[in-house]
Amino acid sequence: MICFGIMEYIKVKGIVCKITEYKESDKILTVLTYEKGKIQIVAKGVRKKGAALTHASRLFYCGQFECVCQNNMPILTGATMIQDFFGLTNRIETLYYASHFIDLCSYFIQEEQPSQDIMSLLLNSLYLLMRNESDPMLLTAIIQFRLSAIEGAAPITDFCVECNKPLDDGCSFCFSLENDGVTCCNRGISISHSVFRAINQICNADSSKIYFLSIPKTDLTVIYDLSCKYIEKIAGKHFEILDRIQEL
Ligand SMILES: [Zn+2]
Repeated sequence: MICFGIMEYIKVKGIVCKITEYKESDKILTVLTYEKGKIQIVAKGVRKKGAALTHASRLFYCGQFECVCQNNMPILTGATMIQDFFGLTNRIETLYYASHFIDLCSYFIQEEQPSQDIMSLLLNSLYLLMRNESDPMLLTAIIQFRLSAIEGAAPITDFCVECNKPLDDGCSFCFSLENDGVTCCNRGISISHSVFRAINQICNADSSKIYFLSIPKTDLTVIYDLSCKYIEKIAGKHFEILDRIQEL
């Protein structure tokens, strides 16, 4: 973070994704924000009893952060909660999924870059996860495929990635991880038409409509596994929390 002048104030909206203890009683908060992407904020004295900003120096705290910049570092001066996400820590399974969502978005959100689309996707997904009404595996598939689309790397779903013919409902489909999309040529992982339609909707529908999809139980593990393999290919990275989720 570059701040000019002696006093510069910033106001950002975001969620605390990582906490590092610093000096005797401070914390460094890594915050994913709409306005400035990933930033670090020093929360001074918050490990002391009764410190004023302790409430904001917690993992999953989601709010508006007010800071003053000193020596190129934002120092927290005030915080107002926007959404209470602490319910995410009530169950170990939910906590793991939430940590994975944060981990994923934290990987793709850059420093100093506005991140409206990813932030909305993250906060909406965390909210639905906390409500415990949607299947967490489906939410994971949604966030992972949508993230690939936001990154400009959505899987191809309008023509066959092998023979280039338009895909129509008469064919049976496979997903080719090698060629980043759906194929009618029987190569890759076999998928049902409902998985095909779901991937298409997640990647291409208006952001307000991506959570409204129903998928048969038998297809849930298929779309979940595919989304995990696909996002790891896009990221070029293995997300370790996925292993722990599998072990639950
Ligand atoms: Zn084909």
